[in-house]
Amino acid sequence: MSDLGDGRGNGLGTDGPLVVVEGLSKTYRKGRRKVTALREVSFQAFPGELVAVRGRSGSGKTTLLNLVGGLDRPDAGRVAVDGRPVTDLPEQELAGLRRDVIGFVFQSFGLVPVLSAAENVGVPLRLARLPAREREDRVRTLLALVGLRDHAEQRPYELSGGQQQRVAIARALANRPRLLIADEPTGQLDSETARQIMELLRALVHDQGVTAVVATHDLSLMALADRVLELRDGRLSAPA
Ligand code: ADP
Ligand code: MG
Repeated sequence: MSDLGDGRGNGLGTDGPLVVVEGLSKTYRKGRRKVTALREVSFQAFPGELVAVRGRSGSGKTTLLNLVGGLDRPDAGRVAVDGRPVTDLPEQELAGLRRDVIGFVFQSFGLVPVLSAAENVGVPLRLARLPAREREDRVRTLLALVGLRDHAEQRPYELSGGQQQRVAIARALANRPRLLIADEPTGQLDSETARQIMELLRALVHDQGVTAVVATHDLSLMALADRVLELRDGRLSAPA
């Protein structure tokens, strides 16, 4: 498609896709060995949509999410997020895009152990130089959004796995991203907690108008997605 990157300023911003992925391919090289992790993957995700990416371990889910989020570069193909050509941006602009437009959630939560829940959520707001007063208000709102109003002062080790992931989700939403990328966010949680976290993501996407791309191999969570993409050996196939 030739209109990649043209989504901004043309008046179509709210109706068009937030994420456009075209022909993405990625091969890793380890010495003389080559592993093709993605083969010509194309899809779009629209505002307010929750897209699940499923596939067994090694099928290319993390590779795809990292390319969409601008954490890595493809060998071929293009990604645009919110009209911005992720795959063509210089590193500095990419850093800005990751800070302002995209929120990341990982399987292992990634919280800072010495900081309280509130301080963890406040980290991206500090980086964005939000004044202290506004930051505190925003942190309170975010913690309430994920159901942790009464846990603001607790450190990660004083929280359950599900609560820690809620903190991580609140942190990912801090700068009001348009895209939430979550790589197996429920992979370390028991099935009931996993369902609650996926329901929270579902509600946030709906209420906040965020787009979410969520990798998971948990079949029970697929029902909560608007759309399911299935990866097999790096190739997108129609879900069974
Ligand atoms: P998934 O997240 O679905 O488990 P990945 O995207 O992590 O899949 O991996 C896809 C394939 O690419 C696997 O065969 C994996 O071993 C390989 N791979 C992933 N990252 C690297 C890397 N940094 N170097 C070499 N091979 C990699
Ligand atoms: Mg993975």
